[in-house]
Amino acid sequence: MREHAVAVVAGDGIGLEVVPAARQVLDRVAEIHGGFRLTYREFPWSCRYYLEHGAMMPEDGLETLRPFDAIFLGAVGFPGVPDHVSLWGLLLPIRREFRQYVNLRPIKLLRGIASPLRDRGPEEIDFLCVRENNEGEYSNMGGRLYRGTPQELAVQNTVFTRFGVERILHYAFRLARERGRIKRVTAATKSNGINYTMPFWDEVFEEVATQYPDVEHDRFHVDALAARFVTDPAHFGVVVASNLFGDILTDLGAAIAGSIGVAPSANLNPEGTYPSMFEPVHGSAPDIAGRGVANPIAQVWSGAMMLDHLGYPEAHGLIVGAIERALLDGIRTRDLGGAAGTVEMTQAILDRLEG
Ligand code: ATP
Ligand code: MG
Repeated sequence: MREHAVAVVAGDGIGLEVVPAARQVLDRVAEIHGGFRLTYREFPWSCRYYLEHGAMMPEDGLETLRPFDAIFLGAVGFPGVPDHVSLWGLLLPIRREFRQYVNLRPIKLLRGIASPLRDRGPEEIDFLCVRENNEGEYSNMGGRLYRGTPQELAVQNTVFTRFGVERILHYAFRLARERGRIKRVTAATKSNGINYTMPFWDEVFEEVATQYPDVEHDRFHVDALAARFVTDPAHFGVVVASNLFGDILTDLGAAIAGSIGVAPSANLNPEGTYPSMFEPVHGSAPDIAGRGVANPIAQVWSGAMMLDHLGYPEAHGLIVGAIERALLDGIRTRDLGGAAGTVEMTQAILDRLEG
């Protein structure tokens, strides 16, 4: 029996409701599987913690997380605490310190959910988005000058390193080879308007592609690529994009797959040198928090991705299958047009785990 230590940061808002729901599902799957067990340690780090202590996590927070096998995160965010506090105070330090340079988001229309793209079914919306997670446009480098004057200006630098671009592209090609529904990598670019970093990205992309002759590759300007998500989603196997482009494309991806309430994500350190982190795409949803109506699927599915990363792809399959059967049986939360609450939805998934 293998044991995996999981650091749990439920965070704020609906994180406090959907994380316990997901843990129930993970524990049940571990029982059914029989080959592993998860042990949890909970950390109260959140915007509530920030309001009390003046920081999102203690100074030695990263050191505390380092020995864990994985980090399971709900969502952080609270009205009154600016978004950049929760981002730069918790999420980005974890992603960077632990070299979680891959942000992986499946764009997969589950059976039992209707896409806003009319007539598109689960066979056509099923690809993987790989977002570069450590550099690019989110550089924290730049500055502002001449505040309050007519000459006021702001500069933000974008940083692409050969090391960073090569490793994310290699990851994307390997993923397409091993997992892609179709073996094709599509890269987002914008080399017409952004004339230093994007041509560099394109060059490295073509270089890396030569090492994967069995995987097709193509690239589109990000604006055209966004349109293609809507007009021809079946084209994609793996989509790879920079930090900013990936952020925007994956929100669009979550939308065509039905609801932000079902979209999971993984922040991966593929080498396993450091813990990886698993979290839903959605935020803390203060507008519905505390009412028991949040959709737990994104959190549950993120947990399934954690099990996959820990070496249990069959456990991942079991969970996604149970989610789809619950949806097909008509059990849906309000964001999917149903009436089920968090507890009911979770129970419906639990009831269908054994197949
Ligand atoms: P953040 O800044 O943390 O990303 P946000 O306000 O931008 O937060 P969300 O918290 O994701 O975005 O909420 C966006 C909308 O989606 C809200 O109306 C929220 O109620 C809804 N929503 C988000 N997650 C869920 C969920 N799991 N179930 C149901 N509705 C959800
Ligand atoms: Mg948001």
